Amino acid sequence: MDEDLKRRMIEAGRILEQAGQGDWTRGHLSVRVPGAADRFYMKASKIGLEEMTLDNIITVGLDGEKIEGEHGRHNEVFIHSELLRARPDVNAVVHTHAPHAVSFSALGKPLQAIGHPGAIFAEGLPVFSETTELITTSERGRAVAAALGAHGAMLLQNHGLVTAAPTIEQAVYLALSLENACMMQLWVEAAGGAKALGKPDDIKAKRKHMFREEMFKATFAYLVRRLTRG
Ligand SMILES: [Zn+2]
Repeated sequence: MDEDLKRRMIEAGRILEQAGQGDWTRGHLSVRVPGAADRFYMKASKIGLEEMTLDNIITVGLDGEKIEGEHGRHNEVFIHSELLRARPDVNAVVHTHAPHAVSFSALGKPLQAIGHPGAIFAEGLPVFSETTELITTSERGRAVAAALGAHGAMLLQNHGLVTAAPTIEQAVYLALSLENACMMQLWVEAAGGAKALGKPDDIKAKRKHMFREEMFKATFAYLVRRLTRG
């Protein structure tokens, strides 16, 4: 039944929405079905990220076709199907139209490690700029997967962010961290641009501290507790 995994997807959706990444009904997330590498659970279309339930999560194949579920499938399913196809190490994908990430992508500038969240992406943040349109074909999905390469997060220029990770906890952590990093740099850019940045060795050390399994899990658990506090 994989009910626990679906419950974590539901929590992930509520966390992303609470963090300001819900673009009405437009964001989505997926998790590969354990023991069935060629299919994944995904949020349905026409509902908010915070409206997922055990009953409305759909099951989709790597060709992007719905296998199970009564609710509709997002047009941008191919971000998930092609990423999960290209990356056997990835089990969870998040795509949102996070407003700071979208705004930052319009600057056409590399992301800087203004604070801790920025340090997480110090090893590179790919930007998909082939089109700013929706990713509605498997061909475009493959192009997004190619742009992501072996990274865990990327920007879709003038569109949104994508994160891909072994676990949903990590994918959410990266999505929230990337949005915060973009927000911080937008503030700094608005104030004239960064004049002081940490030493490369400091940033490397910070990345190591911030990019840990324990950190992904503890942060997710905290965010779930915060949800229940309202
Ligand atoms: Zn989108």
